[in-house]
Amino acid sequence: MTAFDYDLFVIGGGSGGVRAGRIAAEHGAKVALAEEYRMGGTCVIRGCVPKKLMVYASEYPDQVRDAAAYGWEATLGAFDWGRFHGKLEAELDRLEAAYRRNLDRAGVKVFDTRATLADPHSVKLADGSTKTAKHILIATGGWPFVPDFPGSDLVITSNEIFKLDALPKSILIVGGGYIACEFSCILNGLGVDVTQFYRGPQILRGFDDEARDHIADAMRARGVTLHTDTVLRKLERGPDGIKATSGDGSIAQYDAVMYATGRHPNTAGLGLEEIGVTLRENGAIAVDEYSQTNIPSVFAVGDVTDRVNLTPVAIREGHAFADTVFGGTPRKAEHDLIPSAVFTQPEMGTVGLTEEAARAQGPIEVYVAAFRPMQPMFAGHAEKVLMKLVVCADTRRVLGVHLVGDHAGEMIQMVGIAVRMGATKEDFDRTVAVHPTMAEELVTMKTPVRTA
Ligand code: NDP
Repeated sequence: MTAFDYDLFVIGGGSGGVRAGRIAAEHGAKVALAEEYRMGGTCVIRGCVPKKLMVYASEYPDQVRDAAAYGWEATLGAFDWGRFHGKLEAELDRLEAAYRRNLDRAGVKVFDTRATLADPHSVKLADGSTKTAKHILIATGGWPFVPDFPGSDLVITSNEIFKLDALPKSILIVGGGYIACEFSCILNGLGVDVTQFYRGPQILRGFDDEARDHIADAMRARGVTLHTDTVLRKLERGPDGIKATSGDGSIAQYDAVMYATGRHPNTAGLGLEEIGVTLRENGAIAVDEYSQTNIPSVFAVGDVTDRVNLTPVAIREGHAFADTVFGGTPRKAEHDLIPSAVFTQPEMGTVGLTEEAARAQGPIEVYVAAFRPMQPMFAGHAEKVLMKLVVCADTRRVLGVHLVGDHAGEMIQMVGIAVRMGATKEDFDRTVAVHPTMAEELVTMKTPVRTA
């Protein structure tokens, strides 16, 4: 029998890799993990966590305005990016330390260095040393993709947005996905003059059309200059910022330009092709339902496999891998009915099928409530909340729920349980409303607005 240095070597200290390493160690495996940057990965260091803290920061102007409408003597002062940013960095340090502590407690050996594959059972560290392992897990995540065009070297991405010394006065954001829309709203809330270009007819492609329209209208009403069907042709450095020429030849100047045009799997230079690991066309690692590659000792989880690129999914994949290989209980991570939130302002929570996808499968009923909720209406806001149920006309099962409004992310977590359990429209109906709340509309929609 060959003696390996480790039972498992994990490359990548993000959500998926850390969970897999920790659980494998708890199952008794001897585990090592290499991370070349900061422990915690995209979610903790340059994604979900700092983004959500920026969302909170950006919502205070509205809250102060509302406070005044509710009778408080409240006035909004200036936003001090430096003060916020210092606290943000301290919080990320705290979280990174907690990740390290948890790995340490579980007995995982951490190498703060880059690791690449040398053969199906060994990795090479940046110092030239080699470590052998019975199993290797790749959890190296993804990286922002910026297309090549004249002036593309002038742009920033979501990696840099958290590191700015000062907030720009104006910014052009290119893209129409999660990151572009979330940062348009965040920066708009922080007082930056935001313009967003999206190449297609409507932002947030893939989400429910009615919800997309609702969010786009609300973003415009809140002050984002959103141009759809618009592309950027070139960027040039001007005397007072960056000169942007769009597809129709019009020119405008911005302090900064951010690209949020998708993320690519981090597989380059890892030695994967050299040892024969199959990659998909976009560079993602091809894996089966148990996250195993075509090389039996090599597994991969998270964004590097480009399945559903969300932190909780990577965590599930990592945990299922560790239980399967080291815990004696084969488990697959499920990739259907994943509830998720887009932290735009207003926020979206969604689970299950869009109306468009459900319609393609069979007869449906659609229930929609669009209304002005109590709290902002009292404060004089015109913005409406959208609540939508997509129901199968035959089985009566709720196939999809799409919510746009305050706390939609919190609400969809709960609704997601009911949808996963196979709740019918009648199950929703016989649940007593919690009054007075926004969420009560979910159980009081009586008549479909349309059938198809
Ligand atoms: P997305 O894939 O969501 O969106 C990419 C956007 O860029 C799309 O609008 C796409 O247009 C556009 N685009 C792609 N290529 C080009 C190009 N060459 N020129 C112009 N536009 C282009 O990626 P994001 O970067 O926004 O997010 C990455 C991932 O991170 C997401 O998949 C998501 O899973 C995850 N994420 C999740 C969050 C959450 O859960 N709240 C928050 C942030 C990120 P088109 O639609 O036409 O293809």
